[in-house]
Amino acid sequence: MDERKYEIIKLYDGAWSIEDGFVRCFLMKGDEKALLIDSGIDFESIKKLAQTILNGPKGAGSWEEIEADASVIYTQADIDGAEGSFPLELLNTHGDGDHCQGNHEFDWFYIHEADAHLYKREHKDLYENAAGPEMRFVNDGDTIDLGNHPLEIIHIPGHTHGSIAILDVNARALYPGDSVQTGDIFMFGDHRNLDEYPASLMKLQDMEERFDVLYASHAQLKMEPDYIGECFDACESMMHGEVEPREEERHGFTIFAYDCGACTFLVDPDRVFEAEEEDE
Ligand SMILES: [Zn+2]
Ligand SMILES: [Zn+2]
Repeated sequence: MDERKYEIIKLYDGAWSIEDGFVRCFLMKGDEKALLIDSGIDFESIKKLAQTILNGPKGAGSWEEIEADASVIYTQADIDGAEGSFPLELLNTHGDGDHCQGNHEFDWFYIHEADAHLYKREHKDLYENAAGPEMRFVNDGDTIDLGNHPLEIIHIPGHTHGSIAILDVNARALYPGDSVQTGDIFMFGDHRNLDEYPASLMKLQDMEERFDVLYASHAQLKMEPDYIGECFDACESMMHGEVEPREEERHGFTIFAYDCGACTFLVDPDRVFEAEEEDE
């Protein structure tokens, strides 16, 4: 019988990625507490998995002895029954369902207020039947300090109204959620705003001297900061009518896919991009 397996990658001291095969969560640890960035879509218990990681690496020794980028496989049996006393909090990069399915394991979580509505819609069951976890709002410029491990919140609306990026200040690493990634970037539906997206990318570009690496929630894990500019250029070429779309079905919606080199933007078909033409 197949047992569930999860791949954990130590990114650097005090930071791990947790893969569920579709979406990636991140775990950050400081001297005083730990923070889970997103709770995924398909974990039996993301909280127990995080506690298991915080208890130390599988086998023996400490995480400090394990080199960066090393991968460790945990089975469901490794996680079942795991208990931990290290304080663990939860933050969502945005309110899309694939980042929030494990939220019910927590009493409360951080999210940007502009995605509160989206979160409630994606989690109607929880909110209609029970109180559900409490939301605590984070804003642009806030810092969550885990204990010598400050994380700065950057509001980057576009993919959703309340999307945030997280800057691990000391590690010089940026976590942009779904807003910067290889492959598909979802921009269709009423909870997104493509018009705000380019300015959000410029905001990240303006901070580029503060980070050396990006860690994305889907597709390729690790990217160079230059990739933000590639996404910006890709988006501009689409919005200037330079890219021909392809019609596709996604999650029951007909959408237009724009292959823009670095990434593919998935956009509402009624959104039309006019090519810039000479004055008439
Ligand atoms: Zn998303
Ligand atoms: Zn996602």
